[in-house]
Amino acid sequence: MTSTVENDRQAASEVRAAGINEALTVMPDEKGHFGPYGGQFVSEILMTALAELDQAYRHLKNDKNFLAEFHHDLEHYVGRPSPLYFAERLTKQMGGARIMLKREDLNHTGAHKINNCIGQALLAKYMGKPRVIAETGAGQHGVASATVAARFGLKCRVYMGSDDIARQSPNVYRMKLLGAEVVPVTSGSRTLKDALSEAMRDWVTNVDDTYYIIGTVAGPHPYPMLVRDFQSVIGIEARAQCLKQFGTMPDAVVACVGGGSNAMGIFYPFLEDRDVRLIGVEPAGHGLETGQHAAPLSKGKIGILQGNRTYLMQDSDGQVLDTYSISAGLDYPGVGPEHAWLKDIKRAEYVAVDDKQALHAFRQLNRLEGILPALESAHGLAYAMDLAATMSKDEIIIVNLSGRGDKDIPTMAKLDGISLD
Ligand SMILES: *Cc1c(COP(=O)(O)O)cnc(C)c1O
Repeated sequence: MTSTVENDRQAASEVRAAGINEALTVMPDEKGHFGPYGGQFVSEILMTALAELDQAYRHLKNDKNFLAEFHHDLEHYVGRPSPLYFAERLTKQMGGARIMLKREDLNHTGAHKINNCIGQALLAKYMGKPRVIAETGAGQHGVASATVAARFGLKCRVYMGSDDIARQSPNVYRMKLLGAEVVPVTSGSRTLKDALSEAMRDWVTNVDDTYYIIGTVAGPHPYPMLVRDFQSVIGIEARAQCLKQFGTMPDAVVACVGGGSNAMGIFYPFLEDRDVRLIGVEPAGHGLETGQHAAPLSKGKIGILQGNRTYLMQDSDGQVLDTYSISAGLDYPGVGPEHAWLKDIKRAEYVAVDDKQALHAFRQLNRLEGILPALESAHGLAYAMDLAATMSKDEIIIVNLSGRGDKDIPTMAKLDGISLD
């Protein structure tokens, strides 16, 4: 397999050679702006750390050894490429477009997050940082970070709100088994946004020996860019697999959006294919009109979160609001700045799916395909199922099945009134 970056470059230059308008894939600019979004809203001391990271990344993304190690681990440790699977019975049930599933649920640790964590752990290694930190809400990014820290022999500390620790005890224990230290954050609402602040504070204090692994396409520049690049292996594979299986591009690509990394990863290699609809699905929770959701692109305002300008859930005083979704991994008050820009320029569409619709899709995929999806992924799936029904049988939809749902069994059992003890 050739490298992500080389493939992107090649694809982009082919598009330009064919005379199809300007390259969307050259974003962000030098300062990390995607139009008015992104940037670096951090303290002076972190500006230095970010400049060091930016410089290291710009060099390493073209470094033969770095890329060889990255792709080696994607193949032998993560288990890539992941299949592009035709969900035949589900397609038949919906009676329209072919539904193809990009099976990120089959990756080591059960989701797409590991792709990015491998990339960033390698950055830490090449930059000579023996210690990594991360923050986590539901615990999934914490687990992926602790996993790669074990794999590369790095010291690892994970910040987690104390309320989240109480809710996610299997993931907390799993991180400990992997040798990570889990630090409870007891300030504020004791959830993800407080863990974010605490991780930033740690980085400021220990920037000499510490690498901060951010789990989605958010944070200050260069994080949204480098996380996207590491995750774009998903879209590069899916695009090639679709061409190979059907000799044509898909008509639509659908992915759930929390911070937006699995969506950006599958969208990015399709950006220049203007006929391919790109659809991001936010969690509408109990309903957009109830305020109990995590859908900043649908219902948020522009502001600053985690060092970048983007759409986020905030009140009129600029206070970040509490979010809600049945799927803990989508429960994030912001969204990556590249999505904010793609929405404004209308290259991607953003919609929202509520808990009920996601739960229906979750059950359907179990029954019809024998696949237990993550509740996060079920949001994308739910939208794709409805969309498929409105399309013709010769059309193709690719859904990014971002993760597996084993972790959601306790949530589902509780809804069904079943005791697992
Ligand atoms: C974390 C997670 C998400 C949401 O994160 P993105 O950055 O939006 O991809 C989606 N699906 C699964 C399975 C996750 O673990």
